[in-house]
Amino acid sequence: MRIHDYRFGSLREYVASDEPGAARPAQCPGCSAENCFWKNGSYDREIRERELIRLVKVPRFKCRFCRAVVSVLLGFLAPYRRYTSAIISECLQTYLNTRTTYRDLAADVSMEEGEDPPRPSHARVFDWADSFTLHVKNFLGVRVNRACVRAGKETLLGASRECPNAFKALSTEKAERLNQTSTVLQEAIALVGPSQVLDNLRAYFLTNIHTPFDIFCGNRSTLSLSQNSELVF
Ligand SMILES: [Zn+2]
Repeated sequence: MRIHDYRFGSLREYVASDEPGAARPAQCPGCSAENCFWKNGSYDREIRERELIRLVKVPRFKCRFCRAVVSVLLGFLAPYRRYTSAIISECLQTYLNTRTTYRDLAADVSMEEGEDPPRPSHARVFDWADSFTLHVKNFLGVRVNRACVRAGKETLLGASRECPNAFKALSTEKAERLNQTSTVLQEAIALVGPSQVLDNLRAYFLTNIHTPFDIFCGNRSTLSLSQNSELVF
């Protein structure tokens, strides 16, 4: 099981705060007991965000009642991804809204100006856009549409928006997927507001990429963590 400690939104914020460890969870997501966690080792993740590279410790805790083992990830760590959720969501938003290329985007968010080849590579930025647009096609599009209907905002539906980069796609299917994702992003912004969408887009990359969550619809449950921070699923 993974939970997130949301005190820091980016690697930069974390470094500026002298790199404290992730907080011990106050409540077990398995059995809801409180103050029940023992330390159960840790592992290191190498994380990159622009010019910063850090080894960040991910502590594991074990519930003494239900024996659930929980890893606590700092809020900017996306599971299985080396770049932080802030960088990934920035690339996606830009690609869906502005005429650009994967190569230019990779250079814009790369670790050092003029770095050659840029890191992340353009292939990695392509992969982020590809997996996110697939997820919108398979899960998220329908869920955002339903949320619009539930909120009485059916008028938002039907106004499709073109992704300014769709014309370069190598297949019609991919072009449609990019347009659909731009449209869903626009619907989500109308539904919950631009800053919430950005937060939710980041939250999306903190969850398992194949698990559908209502991240664009504001349906998030919260659990309190020790040290006055909040967990958001
Ligand atoms: Zn438990």
